Amino acid sequence: RKRIAVLTSGGDSQGMNCAVRAVVRAAIARDCEAYFIHEGYQGLVDGGDKICKASWGDVRKFVSVSGTIIGTARCMDFKTREGRLKGAENLIINGIDALVVIGGDGSLTGADLFRSEWKTLVTDLVSQKRITQQQASDNGHLTIVGLVGSIDNDMAGTDFTIGAVSSLHRICESVDNVTSTALSHKRAFVIEVMGRHCGWLALMAAVCTGADFVFIPEQPMDREEWKEKMCADIKAHRGQGRRATIVIVSEGAIDRDLKPIRSEDVAAVIEAECDLITRVTNLGHVQRGGVPASYDRVLGAVQGIQAVDVILKSTPASDSKLIAIQNNMNAPVGLMEAVQKTKDIASLVAAKRFDEAMQLRDPYFSL
Ligand code: ATP
Repeated sequence: RKRIAVLTSGGDSQGMNCAVRAVVRAAIARDCEAYFIHEGYQGLVDGGDKICKASWGDVRKFVSVSGTIIGTARCMDFKTREGRLKGAENLIINGIDALVVIGGDGSLTGADLFRSEWKTLVTDLVSQKRITQQQASDNGHLTIVGLVGSIDNDMAGTDFTIGAVSSLHRICESVDNVTSTALSHKRAFVIEVMGRHCGWLALMAAVCTGADFVFIPEQPMDREEWKEKMCADIKAHRGQGRRATIVIVSEGAIDRDLKPIRSEDVAAVIEAECDLITRVTNLGHVQRGGVPASYDRVLGAVQGIQAVDVILKSTPASDSKLIAIQNNMNAPVGLMEAVQKTKDIASLVAAKRFDEAMQLRDPYFSL
């Protein structure tokens, strides 16, 4: 029986558990054996009881729980060849030759590197007498499939990542809650949201909550520019009778010199220029918690099943795949193409080629 393992890596996100459950149950339903690797790549490197067989019942009640029950970690060991050698040894000892990695672009880059090195890792393990020749020939290939679990919606090539919609719900609830105080006291609030280098959460939160102004990394503005635009908008909205002012700042917001735009600076400008008592609220990790939205549950479930199907159809010559959703259709795409496009966006931003970076972003940014 084919043995398929699943791990979650990098930052947790809502819906990861649904994806893990779907991988386990799809594998069992297709007459394969499913394995958990606990604590992300650290569990792969450490082996032992971190790698264990998963039964149908082990994933019961996973659907409505956020985070990742099988654990995640940032693992420096896996960035070294020695760490990946131990990872390969642990997979081979357990007879596992297919791996579903649920994580962000870093985790998927690591996965692809691991797969591309596989043959040389196996050769080294044989020459160091850590595995037998028979084990090496039984494990000639490693199949990797990636699912993107991230609240940031920052992966190119997929319209949604697992967790982004739940996080957006959490942000909208929080902004609505803050708005009641803003309305009561006629105050201004600057609300900082997650997203790292991607402004999707901030932009969508601004659309969903009717914010006065939003700062996103994809649209850098110099201080004088944003000061003028933001204050003009706030004053115009107040002039129309609005009692509350809400400004959303993405944690990755930058100016044209790539310097961060800080929520505290934005608040100081509002106080000074618009004469409004202004508070900063950083939503922090609540954005990663709460119940997963039904959308993320469905995404995790469908993509988890597809991951197993892609594994069962793959050949040694196949590229590593990522299960993406594009135009409401879930389908495998080239894992490294998607990761590379995501890195290209970051490189274009670093080179201050903002318009080209924006063109590579997915359609929501044309709003
Ligand atoms: P998030 O979007 O939540 O940050 P991520 O997957 O991008 O998720 P990272 O911290 O970048 O998070 O990566 C998670 C883990 O993946 C790392 O701790 C490391 O073990 C592994 N990893 C990342 N990049 C590489 C790489 N280039 N080579 C090998 N392993 C890597």
